[in-house]
Amino acid sequence: MNKFFIFFALIFAVSCTQQPQFVRFSGNALGTYYLVSYYHINGKSYQAEIDSILREFLFVASLHEPKSEINAVNNNMDILLSPMFQDIFNKAVSISEITNGAFDFTVGPLVRAFGFWNTEREEMTDERIAEYLKLVDFRGIQIVDGRIVKRDPNMKIDFNAVAKGYAVDLVGEFLESRGIETFLISIGGDALGRGVRPNGNCWRVGIESPVETFLSAREVETVVQLCNAALVTSGTYRRYFEQDGRRFSHTIDPKTGRPVDHSLLSVTVRDSTAWRADALATAMMVLGVEKSLQLLENLPSVEAFFISAGDDGTLVITQSEGF
Ligand code: ADP
Ligand code: MG
Repeated sequence: MNKFFIFFALIFAVSCTQQPQFVRFSGNALGTYYLVSYYHINGKSYQAEIDSILREFLFVASLHEPKSEINAVNNNMDILLSPMFQDIFNKAVSISEITNGAFDFTVGPLVRAFGFWNTEREEMTDERIAEYLKLVDFRGIQIVDGRIVKRDPNMKIDFNAVAKGYAVDLVGEFLESRGIETFLISIGGDALGRGVRPNGNCWRVGIESPVETFLSAREVETVVQLCNAALVTSGTYRRYFEQDGRRFSHTIDPKTGRPVDHSLLSVTVRDSTAWRADALATAMMVLGVEKSLQLLENLPSVEAFFISAGDDGTLVITQSEGF
């Protein structure tokens, strides 16, 4: 009797240790927070490794890191670019091309002049905007033999609109390299979910309402299942400045040189990778609903969810067919 009990207890213990354990941790990255959740056979935490991946990423692509590669390029230092910098650059070019410049990684001088690089906001007259617009054209910066070549040395690169998504993908690749198949990563709300959880469901994430409640907390507009997909929201409501009672977003329309100004409050993009969802969400904030839906016709695997302000103060929701 006793032997049997020990035998079954052993079997039970072994089968328990083979159940993947839930691991979850959070931290700071890219000027915001991150959250990582996954299932691992013995519950190992990879937080230290992920922190160092995110720190290394800052030294490539962050404008806030004085010693980063992107700042070296912006200061016209003649450097041989790292493979990661070249990869981000080529990805940014591809989105600039398919969005016909609605996404443009050369908007930096305008973003800075509007005060969004922790800089002083300049008096942005039409003349000054026209001057800055001469520096905004993604075709004017190229990589030749591993080095940046600019049409005008005053041109600057800004990867902010893909950086968070790109970093999410990096963390995802790292977890996959460690044999982890079921995970959810979020950096400042840019999310990537892979695998099916032990309860048989995909990961679930919420899309915030762009409107503040009286407690200033955001309500969840809808909940989305993330089955092997990334979900990124871009909105006029998170980072903006106010002037004459109006809000101006940190997304700049590269055609007008001004912060986007339309009834579209937020765009949420679902795509297979977070970098592309991130870039497309910013592009769609510029394009507006109609042009974004046209763009999506050529991107069959990408879906989007738009929240706009209706005339009577209500929220109007538009979704692509497959969302
Ligand atoms: P959001 O979460 O609102 O999409 P992101 O951080 O992804 O914000 O992108 C906004 C940032 O991208 C801005 O702070 C600016 O640095 C840069 N940016 C602004 N307008 C554009 C644009 N049209 N194309 C590419 N990058 C842009
Ligand atoms: Mg973005």
